[in-house]
Amino acid sequence: MEDCTIPFENVLGEIGKGHKIAFNILNIGRWKLGVGATGGAKHILEMGVKFARDRKQFGKAICEFDLIRKKIGEIATQIYVSESMGFRTAGLLDARWKAIDPKDPKLQQKQLDATEEHAIEASIIKVFGSEMLHVTADETLQIFGGAGYIEDYPIERASRDARINRIFEGTNEINRLLVPGTMLKRALQASCRSCRWWARCRASSPTR
Ligand SMILES: Cc1cc2nc3c(=O)[nH]c(=O)nc-3n(C[C@H](O)[C@H](O)[C@H](O)COP(=O)(O)OP(=O)(O)OC[C@H]3O[C@@H](n4cnc5c(N)ncnc54)[C@H](O)[C@@H]3O)c2cc1C
Repeated sequence: MEDCTIPFENVLGEIGKGHKIAFNILNIGRWKLGVGATGGAKHILEMGVKFARDRKQFGKAICEFDLIRKKIGEIATQIYVSESMGFRTAGLLDARWKAIDPKDPKLQQKQLDATEEHAIEASIIKVFGSEMLHVTADETLQIFGGAGYIEDYPIERASRDARINRIFEGTNEINRLLVPGTMLKRALQASCRSCRWWARCRASSPTR
């Protein structure tokens, strides 16, 4: 891409600030990963409940055993939490975006700032959703018993596919670091802004 000429009308955002767009794509991607994980987990739970009703051992359906019911209850609770997190963040993002005047000359910048404001929520949802999906897939595979470990049943594939969510869009370790890191950075910026030297300091170092 070195010395590549870009027509002016094809430039996205401000020249030299493409990284802001790239990082914000990660924020949206992390939120979407959490929401996608919720959808996947619901599908897995449905498979687990159906199997637990159909499979009989010791003369009754395995869904009648307390420990199987406990798994179903725990999974359903975690899915509900994950779904609520996704809806709450979607609502907050919607409200912030709708508050921006579409004719504002700084529209793109304001949309980027609004999305970036929710970077912490995006990381939290990514970590929670992917770990909730991992436990859901693993516990549902357990409900399937030996059948869950062979390719004939879709829970085997779901269990393998769930694994990548803890790795891409920033590993869960990195996202766990981003939550306190972003909070501390914002707290520092806020205390800087209240300092009487803020304007002069910022002028001498605009990247602050
Ligand atoms: C199927 C698949 C699809 C992918 N799709 C895309 C895509 O579309 N776009 C894209 O950009 N990337 C994509 N990736 C790449 C993915 O985002 C990276 O694999 C991921 O970010 C991890 O980077 P890495 O593999 O280099 O691991 P490394 O950075 O080498 O990490 C290895 C381990 O060390 C841990 N670690 C690293 N640094 C720290 C730290 N500071 N503190 C604590 N632990 C740490 C990690 O959490 C991890 O457990 C994809 C990967 C896969 C497998």
